[in-house]
Amino acid sequence: MKKTLAFVLAAIVFALAACTAGLSPADGTTADAGTELKTDAPASTAQPTGPAAETSGIPDTQPVQSGGEVLPPDDDGEIKRVVIVGVDGAGSAFKTANTPNFDRIFANGAVTYSALTMYPSLSGDCWASCLHGVTPEKHWITNDNSASKTAANPACPSVFKIIREKEPDALLSSLCNWTNVNYSIVEDDIGVYKYGRANRDDKVTEKACSYIAENDFRFMFVHLNDPDGALHGVGYGTSAHTKAVEGIDVHIGEIYDALVKKGCAGSTVFIVTTDHGGNGMSHGGWTDSEKYITFAVTGPGVLHGEPGDMNISDTAAIVLYSLGIDIPDWMTGRVPTGIFDGITAEPRPYESH
Ligand SMILES: [Zn+2]
Repeated sequence: MKKTLAFVLAAIVFALAACTAGLSPADGTTADAGTELKTDAPASTAQPTGPAAETSGIPDTQPVQSGGEVLPPDDDGEIKRVVIVGVDGAGSAFKTANTPNFDRIFANGAVTYSALTMYPSLSGDCWASCLHGVTPEKHWITNDNSASKTAANPACPSVFKIIREKEPDALLSSLCNWTNVNYSIVEDDIGVYKYGRANRDDKVTEKACSYIAENDFRFMFVHLNDPDGALHGVGYGTSAHTKAVEGIDVHIGEIYDALVKKGCAGSTVFIVTTDHGGNGMSHGGWTDSEKYITFAVTGPGVLHGEPGDMNISDTAAIVLYSLGIDIPDWMTGRVPTGIFDGITAEPRPYESH
């Protein structure tokens, strides 16, 4: 009986694994086949030294109590770091999927399911706008050239490079399922820890959690991809797509809880965003289900409610504002109204599509 049960369980596990694998191709451009790649800087065992951490009297790393009890968050009101979890192809699906982690994390945060992405609604174009704070016309990165290290317009660098110029010692990291992000969007040679693992959101999440535990960092970008795989394999808004978003919700909870376990969730601006939705089994166009995306943020000083007129390029401005770094004049993304007290957005300098 036991053997039979074990066999049945093994068969189910195998079937699920095969199913997941079938649903998670990368975005359709080059990706590494399941191996850890490019490390631009060592994953540092080094302890930390963000400028904000130096000036705070509160130690950032607190011991975890025995028995798995979680310490209260470091809630002195100072923002010490920013984490973005970027969920490829999830569109506005967080609105209807069963996402208990998303719901608890952003219960007091600013959340919208109708932020606008960029046109075309493709991953390369849109993640670049997220992290460079400008339109595709200005950052030059497209889905087609996103595997190239020379695709980006050097006049509009990513937030990684802007932070690096202000904070030479800050620990920065980019951990991606879709590894093109670490070729074209995040610059080389600026000491960003890069990790890539195609088709394995679980491994990317695991690495993000261990990085959080071991490093006192300033900025982390985590890219997860399963909803995009389900979109291309089965269709946007299908039960398989919804299930993929619900699987991502578990990973979001794991990453956030790594911050809680370290005692630093209360000093972290934590963002979940997506790059595009879908129309059937594709995306790239400008239908409502492709162009509307989820954007959620919580952290010290973040308001509760719905931000107004949010565009994916505003994400870069929010990151810099959170870290106390001036937003460059060339950056067209800006901090939307309704995220930080006292901040009212300037009119957008370009027409949204
Ligand atoms: Zn995408």
